[in-house]
Amino acid sequence: MAWHRRNFLTQVLIPSLFTKRSGDEAAPRFPKIRPGEYAITWIGHASFLIQTHDYNVLIDPNWARWLKVIKRLKQPGFEIHHLPDIDLVLVTHAHFDHLDRRTLRRIASDQPIVVPVGVGNLVHDLGFNIVHELDYWQTVELGSLKISLTPCHHWGARFLADLHRGFGGFVIEANGRGIFHCGDSAYFPGFKEIGERHDIEIALLPIGAYDPPSGREVHMNPEEAVQAFLELRAKKLVPMHYGTFRLGYEPLDEPLSRLLARAREAGIHHDVLVMTEGQPVVL
Ligand SMILES: [Zn+2]
Ligand SMILES: [Zn+2]
Repeated sequence: MAWHRRNFLTQVLIPSLFTKRSGDEAAPRFPKIRPGEYAITWIGHASFLIQTHDYNVLIDPNWARWLKVIKRLKQPGFEIHHLPDIDLVLVTHAHFDHLDRRTLRRIASDQPIVVPVGVGNLVHDLGFNIVHELDYWQTVELGSLKISLTPCHHWGARFLADLHRGFGGFVIEANGRGIFHCGDSAYFPGFKEIGERHDIEIALLPIGAYDPPSGREVHMNPEEAVQAFLELRAKKLVPMHYGTFRLGYEPLDEPLSRLLARAREAGIHHDVLVMTEGQPVVL
């Protein structure tokens, strides 16, 4: 019956217009990082700053206030000019919530960028010194950092027709420690293989947008993120991809409460690290 049908415009997009953005953008205090340590700072949504003693890496940086008609409902954790010098940028796929050309243009200052195959032409003119396009399991090294592209179940088209674009996640390895940024993915059996091929300590996993207007299964729900975490055999689960943009029907705060409930049931709640945007954590 038609009146049972949900309407993304009237139920999600229009109410978002009248919702005030929360969060503040005070300058973060970036910590001093000793050799062997990582500092992770959540910027919001899928954007992270990962710092080692030697390098500053940005993943899926996005300071956009709007994704076309979708309003950002939480401020980025800090302003873009607060960033330290960035040595390397990683972009998991071409979707607008992960690849924001305007943000990338402001960050680009002759450093390298790594993207999946077929995505290079979206970033080649922004001011990076080299664009590395990786296929699944391929690797690029920057000094002591090793970056690998991992598979996922998603899709990469920025517009309906450009289905050639690749998509994935990244494993960053330094000093024998691995951080996995999943990108976007539905739950799929490949997490086990990622965990077998890489020694993953910290897993940044998406938990939101599981109830999208398209009805397609392209994002994990929180329970599936716990399953993925277990199969990756990681030690810390950092949830992401929730609370910033309403990309699905689910309320903004539902993903985190469902994640914590499932984590408690599974006995891994001590391994979940819920981050606050703009507040670095040293691990
Ligand atoms: Zn996506
Ligand atoms: Zn996304």
